[in-house]
Amino acid sequence: MKRRSFLKTVGAASLAIGVTPAWSVPDLADQQAPNPISSDAQKTTKQASPEKILLKDYRPKSRYQIPITQVPKAKFPTIDMHSHAYAKTPEEIAEWVKNMDEVGVEKTILLTETSGQEFTDVQRKFSAYPGRFEIWCGFDYTGYDKPGFGPQAIRALERCHQAGAGGVGELHDKGKGLVSNSLNAFGMHPDDARMDSLFERCGQLGLPVSIHVADPIWMYEPMDNTNDGLMNAFHWRLDDQPDIVKHSGMIDILERTVKKHSNTTFMACHFANLDYDLARLGQVLERHPNLYADIAARYAETAPIPRFAAKFYEKHADRLLYGTDMGFDKKMYRVTFRVLETWDEHFYEHDMFGYHWSLNGFGLPDEILQKVYRTNAEKILNSRGSRVHT
Ligand SMILES: [Zn+2]
Repeated sequence: MKRRSFLKTVGAASLAIGVTPAWSVPDLADQQAPNPISSDAQKTTKQASPEKILLKDYRPKSRYQIPITQVPKAKFPTIDMHSHAYAKTPEEIAEWVKNMDEVGVEKTILLTETSGQEFTDVQRKFSAYPGRFEIWCGFDYTGYDKPGFGPQAIRALERCHQAGAGGVGELHDKGKGLVSNSLNAFGMHPDDARMDSLFERCGQLGLPVSIHVADPIWMYEPMDNTNDGLMNAFHWRLDDQPDIVKHSGMIDILERTVKKHSNTTFMACHFANLDYDLARLGQVLERHPNLYADIAARYAETAPIPRFAAKFYEKHADRLLYGTDMGFDKKMYRVTFRVLETWDEHFYEHDMFGYHWSLNGFGLPDEILQKVYRTNAEKILNSRGSRVHT
């Protein structure tokens, strides 16, 4: 979870969407679920001159009298390939499972980025619901800058595998090197020779690898009045980081890594952050049959371009995986279904995503939804057994 806005507002977002019939008359009051911050902002800017209204406070409400589609449940049973251990207590975990049942999510992959005792602790917490969650581990980067790193990290990986880890992730590299929850390996990128034996071992053990490279393009660009994604970009800015591999260079690193380890299955998180250049992602996917992309936490980034995005889904339907990465609120899931399944236009979800723009649905057909929601994930998860040789 690297996006700021959702968890902060998850309380406010639990104003669930009322279940009203599909194609009901728009209820604009329902549409806007203001959090305390934004309602303050609304109060102060209500009467203000347009000269004084700040972009961060801008909360337009759609006035279009067009259909609003409620999607209480995913059209097909779904596997969420990108989530984290957000629930901390047994009660929260029970609530999560209830939400999954209601919205049609059959199984959730928890990318814990942990190993050793930390990994076992997460496993234990979620053990009451076998089959509903899979716990994936991380790499242990301890001593990455010292000799002996490879064998030691492989032993840690093998211990997690033996304990039941279903895969590895979410690895992160936004340009400075690999980072994990507990330890940063700055200067070591995924294509570094020091990572070779680890990725190879993942392939041998049949462990798929979820990997996050780069970040949305606006975070690398000047924070000025031409920056389209300014509100999120400023919060997560990378333009001011010295010695950072830029966006395009990170995609090259991803490609070199995936190519080098062709027996290992990789899943690039968040469209490999090529949500702004899906054509390039298409080329990357075509070059590397062992690479998939998850669509987690990039609904707002693709919803402004629904026709182009829908064509991309159609062309690469076999390689895209449903994911969320935004907590476990019912409304959150339903917004993702609305973007994927409906033809709705110009709807706002400021508090979930932080951008100033509105969203549009892709209206994906059933055969594509089935692949993205489920069958592509099953292909990855089911192929593990046949590849395991310890
Ligand atoms: Zn994530």
